[in-house]
Amino acid sequence: MKLINDLNKNSKLEKIFGINVFHIKRMKKYLSKETFQAYINAIENNQSLTLEHANEIAEAMKNWALKHGATHFTHWFQPMTGFTAEKHDSFLEPITTGIAITKLSGKQLIKGEPDASSFPSGGLRTTFEARGYTIWDITSPAFIKESQGTKVLCIPTAFCSYNGDALDKKTPLLRSMDVLSKSVIRVLRLLGNETSKRAFATVGPEQEYFLIDRKYYEKRPDLIFTGRTLFGAKPPKGQEMEDHYFGSIKERIGAFMQELDMELWKMGVSAKTRHNEVAPAQHEIAPIFENANIAVDHNQIIMETLKKVANRHGLVCLLHEKPFAYINGSGKHNNWSIQTDDGINLLDPGSTPHQNLQFLIFLIAVIKAVDEYSDLLRVSAATPGNDLRLGGNEAPPAIISIFLGDMLTSILEQIEKKEIDKIQYNNSELKIGISQLSHLPKDTTDRNRTSPFAFTGNKFEFRMVPSTASISAANFTLNSIVAYVLEEIADLLEQKLKGNKELTDAILEIVAEIYKKHKRIVFNGNNYSKEWEEEAKRRGLPNITNTVDAAKAIISEKNIKMYESIGVFNRRELHSRYEIVLENYIKTIRIEANTMIMMAKQMILPAINRYIKELADSINSLQDNS
Ligand code: ADP
Ligand code: MG
Repeated sequence: MKLINDLNKNSKLEKIFGINVFHIKRMKKYLSKETFQAYINAIENNQSLTLEHANEIAEAMKNWALKHGATHFTHWFQPMTGFTAEKHDSFLEPITTGIAITKLSGKQLIKGEPDASSFPSGGLRTTFEARGYTIWDITSPAFIKESQGTKVLCIPTAFCSYNGDALDKKTPLLRSMDVLSKSVIRVLRLLGNETSKRAFATVGPEQEYFLIDRKYYEKRPDLIFTGRTLFGAKPPKGQEMEDHYFGSIKERIGAFMQELDMELWKMGVSAKTRHNEVAPAQHEIAPIFENANIAVDHNQIIMETLKKVANRHGLVCLLHEKPFAYINGSGKHNNWSIQTDDGINLLDPGSTPHQNLQFLIFLIAVIKAVDEYSDLLRVSAATPGNDLRLGGNEAPPAIISIFLGDMLTSILEQIEKKEIDKIQYNNSELKIGISQLSHLPKDTTDRNRTSPFAFTGNKFEFRMVPSTASISAANFTLNSIVAYVLEEIADLLEQKLKGNKELTDAILEIVAEIYKKHKRIVFNGNNYSKEWEEEAKRRGLPNITNTVDAAKAIISEKNIKMYESIGVFNRRELHSRYEIVLENYIKTIRIEANTMIMMAKQMILPAINRYIKELADSINSLQDNS
């Protein structure tokens, strides 16, 4: 109700949006011209800020936060638990007994030093060297988080050990954004683009979740401890009537969704669409895509806010990939593309011959990357919960393949066969000959909802991603493997151009060579079918059905070499992540097993005993009466 009042008071929806964000426009207002410019330069050129500038930004951030009623600040970070972490410090600093001032210094803004010994580090840090550092991520805006009247200024940070090893989900993502930008710009320069300065991955994650009434939830230790039901019967009515997907939203859920959206809008998260999903009590929220780093931060905020707001409505939000057997589980569709700082979507076919060549080169890079490093993509989507969902005829199988649609596939086939001037499609001749490489129309084929990695017109949709997990891994993996392959493609292209090849010929040759080698990854059919499993086996595509097997990819020599060469991870960091994945798996399974034993002992056996006693008593009473 208060939020609705807020809305009325501000009267305009757009005034609510970002009201709790210290965004670029606000920074401009609060900072001197020089410091604001220094901040922009630091973002654009990946430079660090001087302490003087940091001091001014910290002071401005503090003043803005105090004005909005914040009492504390925190370095908000994303340790390997998959959740966010925060330790609050008050702005107050006593100067003498009973007298205090408020303070946030540049030093405090830039670097925090939490005792980090209790976060998973996979052996990277033993407890006697427990120092961890949180470093301000200047590319993600600070924001105020409200909770029951308390307001805390959250400063997004990366978290690493004293020697700089990544202990979190943000550090590798930021590194991968950087290498992706460099390799994209290198390729664009070869294509004659002299204007774009940087490039970044864009991400729009669709988040699925379940809501259940808290009074039922509280009766289920399995839901409380593990997020899913470990015992249970098939419901008399599941999803067979197909009446929930996009169904009209019930009043109570509608009220929850409204409050959720409002809370998110205040923090600058663009909650755009909301709807009921396939399973009963299942729903989805999707934001508008943005820079991948911010999208990852925002998805963390979405997951946290979902839980918080549900609680206020007497509901519990379950993010588990498979909370209930027999009905669909939840995932996250990670829509991903690459965009330049001057607004070009590099996976958009475009309408001029040049744009199409550009599209083809980036498309083929993604195809090669996904085929060569499908094991890394697979592990980026591996959680114990997702093991129960993948391949269950509601989500893609554990086999990675790419859906391109008939038209794009036929164009690539023609390029491979060097028949590029004549492409038959839908009875009408589609010409993409050298001079006519234009007007590549959008595919008219239906969307393939069974594919783990589908091209959807101007982006890829990675549909395997688990609903509980941070989307960081999915995106640093995509960014890294595509960046690595783009470097290889740039080398090839340079060689061909040095040999006096025409640019168009050189590109088409590269596309043909790569497509020929990697077309086994392209599959436009039904990924849920048994035949695909067999066909994939024939093609040599891996089918890694569980997290433990998937984890091996993290420490394969090939993958370590790739990550080290681009500087996204070192060997130590990869080994630590491998340990963390396995440890998390073991702990999850152990908690589930312990919960089952507890429920069997405390709930099921006593019920059986009670029933047996009742039976025995009634038999006894019959005998007594006879
Ligand atoms: P769907 O039919 O799968 O719901 P939508 O058009 O609603 O498809 O888009 C789903 C998500 O894809 C949204 O979050 C949207 O912002 C995102 N998206 C759209 N364009 C891009 C892009 N270029 N890069 C990344 N994500 C994108
Ligand atoms: Mg979708």
